[in-house]
Amino acid sequence: MGSDRVGSDRDQVGSHEEPEARRRAARYQEGPTAPVSGDPVVVCDLDGVVWRGRTPVPGAAEGVARLRDAGLRVLFVTNNAASRRDELTERLVRMGIAATRQEVLSSALAAATLLVRRLAPGARVLVAGGPGLAEEVAAAGLAVARTPPADAVVVGLHLDFDYDGLARAVAAVRAGALFVATNLDPTYPVEGGVMPGAGAIVAAVATAAGRTPTVAGKPEAPMAELIRTRASGRGCVVGDRASTDGRLAAALGWPFALVRSGSDDDPDAPGTPGGAGGVAEAVPPAVTGPRLDAVVPWIVARLRVP
Ligand SMILES: [Mg+2]
Repeated sequence: MGSDRVGSDRDQVGSHEEPEARRRAARYQEGPTAPVSGDPVVVCDLDGVVWRGRTPVPGAAEGVARLRDAGLRVLFVTNNAASRRDELTERLVRMGIAATRQEVLSSALAAATLLVRRLAPGARVLVAGGPGLAEEVAAAGLAVARTPPADAVVVGLHLDFDYDGLARAVAAVRAGALFVATNLDPTYPVEGGVMPGAGAIVAAVATAAGRTPTVAGKPEAPMAELIRTRASGRGCVVGDRASTDGRLAAALGWPFALVRSGSDDDPDAPGTPGGAGGVAEAVPPAVTGPRLDAVVPWIVARLRVP
């Protein structure tokens, strides 16, 4: 069946691999491999800040360079769970922004971190998501499945979403699987407009299953906790959405810099679906600018050690 084409070879990560799965999960839970420096951290969104679709946002590479020149550390934090983190890192490098995989945090990584804490090593996770999500789940020592039964269902953006896949995810959730969403973004910005985001797919599963997911990505607690493992204390969040980036900043207790280079729609309008346990109120931005390089001087002044 065409709907099985994504990752069906991974369906049978068997229990005979459990010792290795346990070792991988144990390593995974050790957290970042690089020591955390004391430099303040700028959490930089990707979609709508660094690029829009495949097009770099003008001034973004220069803006990141100026943040680093000022002694600030930059973490790229995205709700994109469809792309692999290696791909995201390569895209940054191609547009002139030096980056390592460890500096890129995705909602797929946040979801896998949440799952590995809630499940036994080697547990079966039905992935209704793209390659980035399947890769993080597998790297966490969990068994990627595409069909029920499953101990957990994790839902993210995937461009081959279809009715069969919806039915499989719903069946597993209705049967009692832990229900996790990478993020609830209603849309994401591309050249000239927006495309439907993970939130639209999650809503389909949630509606048919009659359950509310635990959300891993911005602005929810799993992503905030992931950032805290990589940050020393002081920081700032720069993004194009108050509903995700602004609320993440509030969760971290950091200022929020809003840029207008991304989402033109207003996802903060009443009725935007929210996840369980999120930060209830969006906070107004501390500074607003047309794009990243325009807010860099404010961020540097705010975070530079006096
Ligand atoms: Mg964005």
